[in-house]
Amino acid sequence: MVDLSRRAFFRGRPRPKAEMRPPWALAEGDFIDRCTRCNDCVRACPTHILVAGDGGYPTVDFREGECTFCGDCVTACQPKALQRAAGQPAWSAQAVIGEDCLPRQGVECRVCGDFCDARAIRFPPRLGGSPLPEIDGEKCTGCGACVAPCPTLAVTIKLPPAG
Ligand code: SF4
Ligand code: SF4
Ligand code: SF4
Repeated sequence: MVDLSRRAFFRGRPRPKAEMRPPWALAEGDFIDRCTRCNDCVRACPTHILVAGDGGYPTVDFREGECTFCGDCVTACQPKALQRAAGQPAWSAQAVIGEDCLPRQGVECRVCGDFCDARAIRFPPRLGGSPLPEIDGEKCTGCGACVAPCPTLAVTIKLPPAG
């Protein structure tokens, strides 16, 4: 049930910046309506990737580590802003490799691939240059394990564009 008092509270006020929410979060509008900013999910996360973001709402910082999809944050969330249905993926977010990636500068590097247990990062041979990492969209879970180890922090975990 939507909390109308909270919805009224936000009417005419700026909503928090859209950020990546914890796994199994409701759609952003419903999430903001439900989330009380108690940060119980932040305290529950064993890998410490959940942090208080804009306005105190929880967001994900993969520089701290990866999501193991343990679901402890969901269990901790009493207002049910995080809800996990059987078999439902945590999110549709996936890794994106940015311009700072070392092989793009001609420097050999495969660190992100070494940390990807899902084997979702391939390095196809490239004529005249270091192999560039490519994300396999069928395999990437958006766990973020490849983010922190990258020497240039070139990897980000992004939701697909809305639409
Ligand atoms: S536990 Fe739930 S209500 Fe509390 S901050 Fe996390 S998402 Fe929001
Ligand atoms: S599923 Fe587990 S590892 Fe992932 S954010 Fe929630 S508590 Fe942290
Ligand atoms: S986000 Fe996880 S599954 Fe996806 S490429 Fe990085 S380590 Fe692999």
